[in-house]
Amino acid sequence: MSAGNALLILTRVGFEEDLIQEFNAWLQQKQLRAELSHPQAAVVFVHAPSGNGVITTIAQRLRDWRSDLSFAREILLVLADLDQLERGDRVAPIERAVRDLLANNAALHFASIEVYAPDAETSKPLEPLCRHLQKALSGSIPTRDDAFGQSLHILLLSNQRAVITLSKQTMSAPVPGGIARLKFPAAAPSRSTLKLDEAFLYLLSTGEQARWLRRGGTAVDLGACPGGWTYQLVRRGMQVQAVDNGKIADVLMRSGLVEHVRADGFKYFPKKAVDWMVCDMVENPLKVAALCAQWLSSKRCKYIMVNFKLPMKKRLAALEQAQQILLRELGDSLIWRAKQLFHDREEVTCLITRREYLR
Ligand code: SAM
Repeated sequence: MSAGNALLILTRVGFEEDLIQEFNAWLQQKQLRAELSHPQAAVVFVHAPSGNGVITTIAQRLRDWRSDLSFAREILLVLADLDQLERGDRVAPIERAVRDLLANNAALHFASIEVYAPDAETSKPLEPLCRHLQKALSGSIPTRDDAFGQSLHILLLSNQRAVITLSKQTMSAPVPGGIARLKFPAAAPSRSTLKLDEAFLYLLSTGEQARWLRRGGTAVDLGACPGGWTYQLVRRGMQVQAVDNGKIADVLMRSGLVEHVRADGFKYFPKKAVDWMVCDMVENPLKVAALCAQWLSSKRCKYIMVNFKLPMKKRLAALEQAQQILLRELGDSLIWRAKQLFHDREEVTCLITRREYLR
C-alpha cells in the first residue's frame, strides 16, 4: 500500500462483515469504487488499487464520524505499511518512515502520537510492544499545536507489522481507536450507564451537549430499570420520568429528580412535551423505530437517544429498515446519527432528532 492509497477502519470484533456491507452500500450511493478486505479481527482495509485519488475523495466525503458509517469505530488514512519489522529494532524503521513522510509533505503535522493494536483478544500479546513504541516515538517525533485535529496513529497488526496512519478530525473518532474507556461511576445502578454517557459525549458536539443537556431540562427514560441511563440524566441536573415495571435504584429516587412510572413504554406518553426521550428497551428495532417516529412526529420530545438491539443475523438490514421507518415519517427533516459505540455489544446507539432542533 502506498501513502494515501488506503483507509484502515476499526470495528467491533465480529462486525467486520457488517462494516464491509455498510461501506459498500455507501460507496455505491456515492458512485465510488474501492476494494475492501478484512485481514484480521476488528480490521477492515479499503484500497484503491489504481492509486487514482479515489481514497482521497472517499476521505473527503467521509465528513461526519458520528453518522457516516454505524459500524466504523475508527477511520484512518494509511500513510505507510511496514510489514517486515525485525525483532531487534522496531523503533528505528517506524521513526524513519514518519520522518520521510514529514520531509515529503510540508502540510503534514501531528497534534499527538498514538500507538495501539486493534481491540481484539489476538492483540493482547502486542500491548507491551505498543507501550514501548509509544514511549520511544513520543520522545522523537515532533508534534505541533497547529496540527488542527490531525494525529499520527500507529496500528500494530502483529509484532512484524505496523501501519502508519493519519487521524483526521472530520473523519476519525474523537478518541483514538474509538476506544472510549469511561470511568464507571460508583453510584450508578448498572454498567449500561456507560453507553448513554458515551453516546452523549461522542454523538453530540460539545456545543450540543451544553445546549441540549441543560440543568433543569426534562426527559422520559423508557425501559429505565435499574436506572443506569436515568443516572446519566440526573447527573446532568435533568428531571426524569423513569418508565419501567421493574425496580428503580433508591439512590435515584432520593435525588428528588426522578418519578418512577410503572407502565408499558410503548403506551406511555408524558402529559407535557419533554426535551429528551431515551430508550433502552430490549425489543424489535422496527417496533422501537416506529415508537421513536411517533414521539418525534407528535413533538412529544425534541431529541431521542435510543439503543437498537441487533441479535439477528441481518443486522445492517434491520438498522436500515429502522431508519426507513423514521425517514417515512420525518422525511428530509430527519437527523440520524447511528454508531456502534465502544460500550455497545450486539447493538447500535442512535441520536434521532429533527433538523429544526439542531440550532
Ligand atoms: N437502561 C437501563 C439501565 O441503564 O439500567 C437498562 C435497561 S434494560 C436493558 C431493559 C429494561 O427495559 C428492563 O428493565 C425491562 O423491564 C424494560 N422493558 C422492556 N420492555 C418494556 C416495556 N414494554 N415497557 C417498559 N419497560 C420495558
